[in-house]
Amino acid sequence: MSDSGGPPDVVVVGAGIVGCATAWELARRGASVTLVDRGEVSGGTTGLGEGNVLVSDKDSGPELDLAVLGRAMYDELESLGDGAARVRRKGALIVHPDAETWALEPARAERLRAAGVECELVDGADVRALEPNLTGPLHGALLVGGDLQCDPRGLARALAREAQALGARVRTQTDVARVQGNGIVLAGGERIDADAVVLAAGPWSRSLAEGAGVALPLEPRKGQLTRLRLPQPDETWLRHKVVDGSYLLSVTSAATGVEVSTVVETTADGHLIVGSSRERVGFDASVDEALVERMVARAARIAPGVAALKRDATWVGFRPWLPDHLPAIGEASAVPGLWLATGHEGAGVVLGPITGRLIADALTGTPPALDLAPFSPDRFADGA
Ligand SMILES: Cc1cc2nc3c(=O)[nH]c(=O)nc-3n(C[C@H](O)[C@H](O)[C@H](O)COP(=O)(O)OP(=O)(O)OC[C@H]3O[C@@H](n4cnc5c(N)ncnc54)[C@H](O)[C@@H]3O)c2cc1C
Repeated sequence: MSDSGGPPDVVVVGAGIVGCATAWELARRGASVTLVDRGEVSGGTTGLGEGNVLVSDKDSGPELDLAVLGRAMYDELESLGDGAARVRRKGALIVHPDAETWALEPARAERLRAAGVECELVDGADVRALEPNLTGPLHGALLVGGDLQCDPRGLARALAREAQALGARVRTQTDVARVQGNGIVLAGGERIDADAVVLAAGPWSRSLAEGAGVALPLEPRKGQLTRLRLPQPDETWLRHKVVDGSYLLSVTSAATGVEVSTVVETTADGHLIVGSSRERVGFDASVDEALVERMVARAARIAPGVAALKRDATWVGFRPWLPDHLPAIGEASAVPGLWLATGHEGAGVVLGPITGRLIADALTGTPPALDLAPFSPDRFADGA
């Protein structure tokens, strides 16, 4: 709330999916919003992932609770900006080539159900009936029919446009040099004051937070994806998002070395994406060709047909990673007026829009739909 008791004046730093959603939600509540990015809208990590909106790859806890609310928001977001999010309701299959991960799946399915997720266990033969190209040996899979895929870049741009239509100022090509209390200083020296600053600069948030006096042990977690061309575009070559069950262990691991866990699916234009890797090596954007071989070989274990496909492109993105694998969402007690909205790692597409909603609620005096305590940025403060 502003000093006058009306809607606040807020600067949002970073126009990825998190910042754009925050700006839109605030503008809808009547706040005066300035959204600032040093590049284009969605020019950071948001434009580089597969765009999956998944609860199937999570386990019970605050992240799953946030993801359940986040996925439900796509019912609204689907029609925004004439369908700019290009939602494909394809469902996800967590497949198990390994007996060890399959043995753990019934109990996880129960925990997902307890959190409100509809899901079912299917045996190897039924998986093949659902996906004829999954001809590798499989024990079974968890099918989560409500998971979906979208175009996160299209969605973030639509959110920014809608925010602008509601009066928000969107300043691209505008580098933020410092966050200072309730304002920011641009690289050219201009200062913008506000009632609150929301820091949503994705993997680049750490130096801005720490420069303002807020500890944030955030690191970029490098991820590589490869696009394969089918001889003829065929959106049904794989109907679902397909994830190797070992992915769950890789996502939550704190290892710094490279880890590969298989995700494979068709793109909206009927080709395939194979991924993905995770490693903490700073902002090293180089493509590792040996890793491409490893990712394709791992995917071929599940879907042997991918081995023969032509490799089209490989690219790298940086997930904003925090050591406890939870995002930082909320006001930093050390610097009143500074709100953090970052650290969503490989789940910012499902978690970004709901993060924007919860922050906008908290900033405008509406009790958020979820307890924000587990996400508090204060958990990284000295002595916490
Ligand atoms: C390979 C890969 C695959 C992924 N797949 C998925 C997926 O399928 N599903 C999913 O949910 N998530 C996925 N993710 C994760 C998801 O993409 C991220 O969590 C999400 O995009 C983070 O969004 P953000 O808005 O926090 O950051 P970003 O999109 O990076 O936005 C931050 C913005 O801040 C700006 N900025 C930085 N510093 C400054 C500054 N000093 N001044 C002004 N502006 C600044 C940047 O220019 C950038 O535009 C994937 C990530 C990767 C790398």
